[in-house]
Amino acid sequence: MIEAESGLIDKLSILYVEDEDSIRERLSRFLQRRTQTLYQASNGREGLEMFLEHKPDIIITDIRMPVMDGLSMAEQIREHSTDIPIIITTGHNDEEFFLRSIDIGIDKYIKKPINFKEFIQVLIRTAKTVIQQKELDSKNQFIKTILDINPQMLLITDGEKISYLNKSFLRYIKCENIEQFQDKFGSIDYFLIEKEDSFYRNRPFSEWVKTVINHPETDHMLIMTGDLQHKDPNNSDNSSFMIRVNKVPGHAEWLLSFSDITKLEQEKELYMVMSNQDYLTGIFNRKKFYDELNKEIDRVRRYSQKLSVIMFDVDHFKMVNDTHGHQVGDTVLQEISSIVQRAIRKTDVFARYGGEEFTVLMPGTSRQGATEIAERLRVEIESTAFTHAGVITCSFGVAEIEETDNSDTFLNKADVALYKAKDKGRNRVEVFDSGGIICKK
Ligand code: GH3
Ligand code: MG
Ligand code: MG
Repeated sequence: MIEAESGLIDKLSILYVEDEDSIRERLSRFLQRRTQTLYQASNGREGLEMFLEHKPDIIITDIRMPVMDGLSMAEQIREHSTDIPIIITTGHNDEEFFLRSIDIGIDKYIKKPINFKEFIQVLIRTAKTVIQQKELDSKNQFIKTILDINPQMLLITDGEKISYLNKSFLRYIKCENIEQFQDKFGSIDYFLIEKEDSFYRNRPFSEWVKTVINHPETDHMLIMTGDLQHKDPNNSDNSSFMIRVNKVPGHAEWLLSFSDITKLEQEKELYMVMSNQDYLTGIFNRKKFYDELNKEIDRVRRYSQKLSVIMFDVDHFKMVNDTHGHQVGDTVLQEISSIVQRAIRKTDVFARYGGEEFTVLMPGTSRQGATEIAERLRVEIESTAFTHAGVITCSFGVAEIEETDNSDTFLNKADVALYKAKDKGRNRVEVFDSGGIICKK
C-alpha cells in the first residue's frame, strides 16, 4: 500500500537541505529512488537560493546549519509562498524551537535519526495535499482561461464585493488586473451612466446588484463608459449592456455577464425614429400620428380633457408642381413644416398625414383655441414668400373630440371641415360642429 502510494512522490520535486554530508547523502539516495527531481543544499542560504530558482513542491530541511539555519530559511521562504509544505528534521526537543516553528507555519517534523518508514508516510501525506492543491490550481486556471478568452465582460461577486473581472472587463475599464481595479475603484459604479429610467440610478453596486440577482428572469440593461475622463450621458461612445446572472455552483457567488448591445440599441433607436418620421419633412408620419392620437384619446377619456385637431391641405399644389417642378413642390412642403413646427406647442403632435396634407393634434385645446391657432397658421403661410413658389395658401379644417368619437370619426370630422373650406374657395378655416359646419372666417 505504501509502495503503491509512494508513486505519488515521483510526480513532485523536492528540495532537501542538510549540512551533514553523511546524513544528506543517505537520505538523498533514499529520495532519489522515489522522485525524479531532487535538489540538494548544504545550508539555509543555499536552500533559499534553490527554492527561489526551482520553486520545488516540498521542502525538507535540517535546523542547525552554518550560514543560515533551517528556521530562518523557512521564515524567508514563507514570505514568497504561504502554502509550500516545509518538513523539518530535528534531533532536538526544544520548546522555543517548536513555538517559533508554529509561528512560521512548519507543516511536519521528523525526528532524527530518521526512521525511513515513518519518513515515507509523512512524505506521502504531504504529497497528497500538494497534488490535490495542484489539481485545484490547474482547474482554477482552466476556468480562468475560459472566462478570460470570453469576449463578453464577466464579473464575479458575492453581492457586496467584486472578486473577479475577466480580461474583457479589465480591458474595457482600462485596468491591468483585479488588484489595480480594487485599489483604484473597488466598484464598477464609477463607470455607470445614469439615465432617468436606469434601474441602478442613485443606488450603490451592493443594492442594484441585488435587483439583478433576485430577478434573473428580467432583462437588465446598463449603460457604461470605459472612458472616465469623458464621462457624459450624451457621449456616443457610451456602451449599452444586457446583464445576465448565474449562480456559481457551490459558492455564495454570482457570475454576471455583460453583453454589449450598443449597436443593437443604436439601430433600434434609428429604426424607431425612422418608422415614426416622414422622410421629406422630418416631422411625424401618419403611423406615428395615429399612435399619438390613440394615446391622447385614452387620456382624454381618463381625465376628461379637451382634444382638438387641425387638418390642412395645400391649395392647388398640383399647380405648384406643374409650374415649378416637383423639387420646388418638395421644398414648399418642407417650408410649411418648419413654419408650423415653430408656431405650435411642444405638446402638440404635428404630422404629415399624406402627400400635401398635414395634421396637428392639440391636447388640452378646445375647438375655439384650435380655430385661433389654425387661423394664425393660415395667415403666416399666406404671408410667407416661398422659395421659387412665391405665395402659397392652405385650407384648414378643425374639430374637437366628442364623447362618442373614436380616432376615425374624430379625424373624419376635421376632414369634412377641411373639404368645406376647399369648397368655400380655399385659404380659409372651417370648424366641424355636431350641429353642422360653422364658418369661422
Ligand atoms: P386642392 O387645392 O384641391 O388641394 O388642389 P391640389 O392640386 O393641391 O390637390 P390635388 O389632390 O389635385 O393634387 C395634390 C398634388 O400634390 C398631387 C401630387 O403630385 C402632389 N404631391 C403629393 N405629395 C407630394 C410630394 O411629396 N412632393 C411633391 N412635390 N408633390 C406632391
Ligand atoms: Mg546540523
Ligand atoms: Mg391640395
